[in-house]
Amino acid sequence: MATPFEMPDHLCEQMEAGQRLRNQGYRGRFAPSPTGPLHLGNLCTALVSWLQARLANGAWLLRVDDLDKPRNRVGAAENLQQDLHWLGLDWDGPVVFQSRRRGLYNSFLSALRRQGKLYACRCSRRMLADISAPAGRHSIYPGTCRDLELFWGWHEGRLPSWRLRVSKEFSHTSGDVILRRADGFIAYHLATVVDELTLGISEVVRGEDLLEAMNAQLALINAISARPVIYRHVPLLCDDQGRKLAKREGHAGLESLRSEGLGPSHVVGWLAASQGLVPFGDELTAGELLSELKKKEGILKSVLKP
Ligand code: GLU
Repeated sequence: MATPFEMPDHLCEQMEAGQRLRNQGYRGRFAPSPTGPLHLGNLCTALVSWLQARLANGAWLLRVDDLDKPRNRVGAAENLQQDLHWLGLDWDGPVVFQSRRRGLYNSFLSALRRQGKLYACRCSRRMLADISAPAGRHSIYPGTCRDLELFWGWHEGRLPSWRLRVSKEFSHTSGDVILRRADGFIAYHLATVVDELTLGISEVVRGEDLLEAMNAQLALINAISARPVIYRHVPLLCDDQGRKLAKREGHAGLESLRSEGLGPSHVVGWLAASQGLVPFGDELTAGELLSELKKKEGILKSVLKP
């Protein structure tokens, strides 16, 4: 177990508010990055995550992960909201933008740092690539800078990244996780964990490509002495050559399907069929799919992987 984490009052209040929300019932979320149009794989995750929340009569939040500014694309945040609307996936409350929550993330970072849970790391990606696991395998940081007590400030024109000193039980699953990147950006794991906990997310349903992220995020949740979130994973959609769909390769978003004259029921039907929830060829709205699944108890859970 990690040593207990002590927080300043304003962070305690945020954590307690999140805990209260979690205790009230199911709260899920969809958290796309506004780096381009949502492709069918993202939409499939959104649909499954929405169904899981609505089947539990729970809340479903929309969060835009827009911290990595250079990767954001103009208009992407608006477009993804329109796409979700078009598919009939409604979310609760205002959209949460991570870029407006930097103060909160920084406060957690400072609290962790003050308690000696972070260390400065000056390993470059290239250095790590040389010692990393065989191609395709997840590599675990070997802890090179862990005990070096390196200077926090600028050195040779660079800042260090800050890593979490994970407790023993996580040393083989996540290794020491980066919480602030060397370019000064708050890292994804920190922002997402702070959000899940303070927004009271009880269960995260997301693509299987984020399986390793779960280990890093559980290590951080443990370091801040919080109750773990439940994570479930949606199998990835692949193209006809078996490669996973990705925004950067320009796999079709909704725009091209709409221009072929396809409507939301067609797309929802196809996405649901791709997960084995309905037969291929069925056309139904998201609301109709939800009613169907209410009659087939447990079918959605059988799709999701732990
Ligand atoms: N924003 C991340 C992405 O689109 C996912 C975040 C998450 O679901 O934890 O890949």
